[in-house]
Amino acid sequence: MEGTVGRIRALKEKRNAVILAHNYVAGDVQDIADHVGDSLGLSVAASETDADVIVFCGVTFMGETAKILNPGKTVLMPEPEARCPMADMCSAESIRAAKLEHPGAAVIGYVNTNAESKTEMDVCCTSSNAVGVASATEAGKIIFLPDANLGRYVSENVPDKEIVLWEGYCPVHQSISPDDVSRLAASNPGAVVMAHPECTAGVLALADYIGSTEGMVGFAKASDAKTFVVATEVGMGHRLELECPGKDFVFPPNSVCEAMKITTLESVEKCLEGMTGEIRLPKDVMDRARVPLERMLGTPNPV
Ligand code: SF4
Repeated sequence: MEGTVGRIRALKEKRNAVILAHNYVAGDVQDIADHVGDSLGLSVAASETDADVIVFCGVTFMGETAKILNPGKTVLMPEPEARCPMADMCSAESIRAAKLEHPGAAVIGYVNTNAESKTEMDVCCTSSNAVGVASATEAGKIIFLPDANLGRYVSENVPDKEIVLWEGYCPVHQSISPDDVSRLAASNPGAVVMAHPECTAGVLALADYIGSTEGMVGFAKASDAKTFVVATEVGMGHRLELECPGKDFVFPPNSVCEAMKITTLESVEKCLEGMTGEIRLPKDVMDRARVPLERMLGTPNPV
């Protein structure tokens, strides 16, 4: 393993590359990354890097986002087939149809969407900033896509807007049941429950803290609790354990995103060695998809 890590470091230097890894990828891949974070943190890192090459360890919409924000850079995905099933639950065509059905509504789209879908959005959001983005939107009616669970959470926190929900969901968070969470909480007396807003309303009702993966790190660090039930993807445990030594984190069964686990150290090495898995998008798609992303990264423009 040391050999692979050493070769990745040498290749990174040779290519002037930066490695970005999502909180859900395997721990050993997180360990060789320059930045580990959630979608928002990685979007910011992608927009600020001066490296020539960005290697994105995550799923394809993340690599696309990095490319859209850095059209002049080479963006590589070690596993270009690592697709997010939720992102594939929403197409540009279906958004156009929804706009016709709800004229005048603003379209707020989760960053967990494909590049073509972003071309039809007014502003992007992540789970970290979804409530703030919806609050800042001037339109009284919002089409929120594609995650209905996150959309429901936003509508509860922004009650003055009418929010039209999409029928998308993250299969991983959707599969975490309130029973699983209650059982884990009962078998770990004193445990604090943290839940990602992609979870169902039944799970969120049991949570002491609701937030993005980045929010969870901050909450767990600041909390006096020693044990946490964590309702999100299990890869998050690696980061939480590193940043909160002495604390325990337990996860519901089956909270594994297969797409996030495809990337390995070997595939990172292969990709840097052969410069494979390059993200290529038509210029007009990138130009249009950049608008909602830049609105999200700056102070959201009124839409
Ligand atoms: S955890 Fe859910 S939202 Fe994230 S990549 Fe996997 S399927 Fe998509």
